[in-house]
Amino acid sequence: MKLYEKTADELSRLLKNKEVSAIEVVGDFLDRIEEVEPYLKAFITHTPALALETAREVDNRRVKGEVLHPLAGVPVAVKDNMCTENIRTTCGSKMLENYIPPYSASVVAALQNAGMPLLGKTNMDEFAMGSSTENSAFFITRNPWNTDRVPGGSSGGSAAAISAGMAPLALGSDTGGSVRQPASFCGVLGLRPTYGRVSRYGLIAFASSLDQIGPFALTARDCALLLSVISGHDPLDSTSLPKDVPAYAEELELNPGSLRVGVIRENVSDHFDAEIKEAVYKMVGKMEKDGAMVEEFSLPLTDYGLGAYYLIAPSEASSNLGRYDGVRYGYNAGGDDIESMFSKTRGVGFGAEVKRRIMIGTYALSAGYYDAYYLKAMKVRTMIRRDYEAAFKKYDLLVGATSPTTAFGIGEKTDDPLQMYLSDICNITDALAGVPSLSIPSGIHSNGLPIGMQLTASPFSENLLLKVASYFEKTGASLTERPLVEFPEGGII
Ligand code: GLN
Repeated sequence: MKLYEKTADELSRLLKNKEVSAIEVVGDFLDRIEEVEPYLKAFITHTPALALETAREVDNRRVKGEVLHPLAGVPVAVKDNMCTENIRTTCGSKMLENYIPPYSASVVAALQNAGMPLLGKTNMDEFAMGSSTENSAFFITRNPWNTDRVPGGSSGGSAAAISAGMAPLALGSDTGGSVRQPASFCGVLGLRPTYGRVSRYGLIAFASSLDQIGPFALTARDCALLLSVISGHDPLDSTSLPKDVPAYAEELELNPGSLRVGVIRENVSDHFDAEIKEAVYKMVGKMEKDGAMVEEFSLPLTDYGLGAYYLIAPSEASSNLGRYDGVRYGYNAGGDDIESMFSKTRGVGFGAEVKRRIMIGTYALSAGYYDAYYLKAMKVRTMIRRDYEAAFKKYDLLVGATSPTTAFGIGEKTDDPLQMYLSDICNITDALAGVPSLSIPSGIHSNGLPIGMQLTASPFSENLLLKVASYFEKTGASLTERPLVEFPEGGII
């Protein structure tokens, strides 16, 4: 077995026992990237020299007998909306095409402190707006399971990188599904943590009341290890919460007999792909057989959730993106006076979807419409949160599909924004409620593509989600498989 096929936990053990060096591990992933990246294009920026430098440092420290972090020497990929000091951070946008941040996001600093070599910055929908990574200003990323399909989005580059063996771990960000949906499309695990669990300092803002950084991984244990690195209070982010971080990876045992499980009816809707529903019921059936109490229930506001999200997120985006005016950051298109410079810069620097959102958000926040749109949406959000609070009185765990379909075709939804928005229908209410949610692999569809199941729990119950994921791995119901695509000679992009 090649090193790039191993889990982060396996690599950690090999490194600790000095059976391999960090230089060898990083070298193997760099070779793999060179082999498959021409077909997939998961990265916007590669950082091989930096990865090797970190690996060398880790190896030297290990030789000296220093006590290292368990993930020291285990490489990682990071979505290109998290600032990396002295490394270009584009957010998938022409606006920031040449932006080199003078500081690192707190999560990136945490990866560095743990001694994790950074392989590069991954492709994404511009400003994280999208569900397919087709809104990147640079290029599309292809799904490693079928290169005619999208990898999901907006964190599609990170998901594709893990699935194709280009990195054992990666970070993405989830505003309304952007970690979980691509995880399900690429057949890996993707966790959206509780709002406030992980610092957003240095994450380029899309919708600040929704954005959360989360891990992509191959197993529950790997996901737990990475979550431990990035979690915790950060004085630089006033919305991060001062709560203890459990030793997630040490607490993966579960007795399913003690669980009360609620199947969200709206997330196994009759409109969904039948095989996806079947896969969810099969997984749930296993828990029931092992003693869990299982019941269907309804989150009737799910339909309104989509509408509320597409008012709240664009409203916050319209404010957050006001700073890109050609003066303070990034791209400047020039112009005869300040007004024409602003409008030319924003007209050329932003792509169509970003402009659409800025317009919707500006409209929803404008004086005459604030009460009718933004305020209404905020009220719906509160009602959704209450529905979740009520659900968690009855159930420990909520389950359903991660997405109504498996990965869709490249170009299939690009002309129809509403269809694109609907692909996150199962992910948005969790985000509005601020609760943690994890997508786990749940088998392969007869079309050859992976299926994802979504697990949701009450705030700060990430450990329960990871325990359930680990339980499903042990029963064999949830195993991360590798796409067995044979890549043609010479690349396809
Ligand atoms: N697809 C959703 C959107 O376009 C969610 C994106 C995200 O989570 N960043 O807004």
